[in-house]
Amino acid sequence: MTRVYMDANATTPLLPEVVEAMRPYWIDRFGNASSIHLDGQQAHTAVDRARATLAEFLNCHDAEVIFNSGGTEGDNTALFGLLRPGNHLITTSIEHSAILAAANRLAAFGVDVTYVAPSASGVIDPEEIRRALRPNTRLISVMLANNETGVLQPIEEIGKIAGEAGAFFHIDAVQGAGKVPLDVRRSGCHLCSISAHKMHGPKGIGAMFVRRGTPLEPLVVGGSHERRQRAGTENVPGIVGFGRAAELAMHSLEDGTMERVAALRDRLEAGILQLPGTGVNGGAAPRVANTTNIWFDDLEGEALVIALDLKGVAVSGGSACHSGATEPSHVLMAMGLDKTRARASLRFSLLKTATDADVDYVLKVVPEAIAHLRAISPVAAGTAG
Ligand code: PLP
Repeated sequence: MTRVYMDANATTPLLPEVVEAMRPYWIDRFGNASSIHLDGQQAHTAVDRARATLAEFLNCHDAEVIFNSGGTEGDNTALFGLLRPGNHLITTSIEHSAILAAANRLAAFGVDVTYVAPSASGVIDPEEIRRALRPNTRLISVMLANNETGVLQPIEEIGKIAGEAGAFFHIDAVQGAGKVPLDVRRSGCHLCSISAHKMHGPKGIGAMFVRRGTPLEPLVVGGSHERRQRAGTENVPGIVGFGRAAELAMHSLEDGTMERVAALRDRLEAGILQLPGTGVNGGAAPRVANTTNIWFDDLEGEALVIALDLKGVAVSGGSACHSGATEPSHVLMAMGLDKTRARASLRFSLLKTATDADVDYVLKVVPEAIAHLRAISPVAAGTAG
């Protein structure tokens, strides 16, 4: 059966070039990057090379790149590493749970937290961030692109506000990295988290930009790895793979790939919107090229995810990290959708390798699945509370 994967915001496959780059570092070049012998130095050199690539990707100095286990760790490190009881944190109600759960835990320990809500189109107004400032505001944490809607946030304006207020600024760039150019200097941030598996690199490896002089306490302590910012033997194959994925991502930001993906996404969206009782969540806002989040009246989103899966199409209802949970998406609720419509929303997120044939296939099966589900749906029949 044809399979079309449109859940790139959950994770992406490794590109063949990434696998090839990683391969030697599992077997022949397996050394510990901290060892002083040749095997260790080979690993160390490979880590340094990847660090230089990531520094170019982020536009920072090599020494400002800290490798870690991924976006969740980066987000946790930013919050736990800077905030103490009595400090104030400004974040938003549409962040990933890696931020929200960390903020909740800190709130229980005496950190004041303000959650700024987005507009109906899913954008955070920088002026709302400014209004939330207090004398004890130590950190502002805002995402670059939302994982569910793809909506891009005005991080440069927020960076200016943070700078004027003397607050630290963290960007969760996990969903924006590789999809839009990322420049930590321009954005005025002190910390920025990214994750390899969202950009065709391996799972379990991430990186964090830590601006020189930022008084960040490490989250993971032990050895002196990563300039004492993150203890633990480096995941050398993962780091090498991340470096290669970042190199390829820089190419595809310049070679027209993102424009091609945007055109495919727009065709998919326009095709689905032909169906009655549909609309785009965040459609009025600037978005990353690969994402569309669509509501379908008279449907249960989870049922449509399963129906499409049976027809060979992988999509997601709400955030992948919440699938299995029955609560409607906190992002869509924060944008003002009612529970029914939030539950009836689906995220289609295209890989950068997506093709016209993928879109054709999805446009063929979505109307079939919807017609079938609407015919049997208790929601459509008006029997569901
Ligand atoms: N932040 C955002 C915006 C995400 O979308 C995700 C993953 O979905 C994360 C953080 C967590 O990243 P990781 O899976 O690398 O821990």
